Amino acid sequence: MSAMPDYRVWAEVDLDALANNLRWIRFGIGEERRIITVVKADAYGHGLPQIAGHLMQHGTDILGVANLGEAAAVRSIGKGWPILMLGACCSGGEFEKLCLDGVAATISGESEALELGRVAQRLDRQVSVHLKVDTGMGRLGVSPEGALSLARLINGHASLALDGVYTHLSSSEDDEVLTRIQLDRFEGVLSELTQNRLSVSHVHAMNSGGLVYEDRWVGNYVRPGLLVYGIVPSGRRRERGEWLKRLRPVLSLKSKVAFVKEVPTGSPISYGQKDVCSRTSVLATVCAGYGDGVLRSGGRRMEVMIDGKRCPVRGIITMDQMIVDVSEVPNVRRGDEVVIIGTQRGDGISAKEQAAAAGTIPWEVLTSITQRVPRIYRGVSV
Ligand SMILES: *Cc1c(COP(=O)(O)O)cnc(C)c1O
Repeated sequence: MSAMPDYRVWAEVDLDALANNLRWIRFGIGEERRIITVVKADAYGHGLPQIAGHLMQHGTDILGVANLGEAAAVRSIGKGWPILMLGACCSGGEFEKLCLDGVAATISGESEALELGRVAQRLDRQVSVHLKVDTGMGRLGVSPEGALSLARLINGHASLALDGVYTHLSSSEDDEVLTRIQLDRFEGVLSELTQNRLSVSHVHAMNSGGLVYEDRWVGNYVRPGLLVYGIVPSGRRRERGEWLKRLRPVLSLKSKVAFVKEVPTGSPISYGQKDVCSRTSVLATVCAGYGDGVLRSGGRRMEVMIDGKRCPVRGIITMDQMIVDVSEVPNVRRGDEVVIIGTQRGDGISAKEQAAAAGTIPWEVLTSITQRVPRIYRGVSV
């Protein structure tokens, strides 16, 4: 792309697509539900400050983060914006920081609740708490059987406010039965809380997979990450909702051709010489490698786009460069744009496709893009 002559590999982040996705998710979930947009891990590699700022401008309700560093980054942009920390605090210092930054806590157990309560009391703060229930994920969360007594403890504490209750789905894309069991358990907890007159304002369970594949959306909030970035997670279950087709990928990953040469049959390619040309070939060296986040495990199954055509990656992907077979594309030259994720002349390669080539998931493809790769924002309203 001639407009960006100085970058060797870069990520284009389309903020209009982001706003479009938020609008369509809102449409999809209906007016009776609100949204916690998940911006952990540098907003899935898109750049946390820019993404959080844009989501605020376009009216997200709550931002979900993994840790307090991310919470502070969100806080520095939107002073009073509600933030939920999805992870747990690991130290007294973290409890203190959470209280001082006004971040809502995820609480999974009694000792955690009591420590948070003590710290909040000492600092003379009231802390918002979302109680997490483990319905089958086996990660954070109290057991469904223990939820009521933990809810009572939080509710009875002067410095803690029981504002939310949530759970996380383990298998929403693939397994209807496991998902149903999890949602049943969660609803069991909810009705127990209601019967005991514990009212909680924020109830949430649906991640992206849940929104795409499940028709029972439990809760008055939803909690998508991947969907916000315009990627519909693949799964064995059947997708629901026409609005999903309106989502657009926010991120493109691009690079450039650095060098082109024609080589004879039998020429070896890259480390270990594991790949060999079976005919006279034209090879392009591209300035992107695993040091930029192009997953090494994708080598030889991956394709990239050059001049609107798909070209196979050959040999092992190296730290800073990879080798692409451009034998089928006439006149490839140094400086030509290479699309690793995104579209070129109407055809495209998705993060999902690159994930499949690397034997992983699109979440990992996005969060693997390293700091060396500049993020270029498009559609910024100044
Ligand atoms: C990451 C995360 C999400 C978002 O997941 P997606 O699959 O990207 O939608 C939601 N809830 C919790 C607790 C998470 O950790």
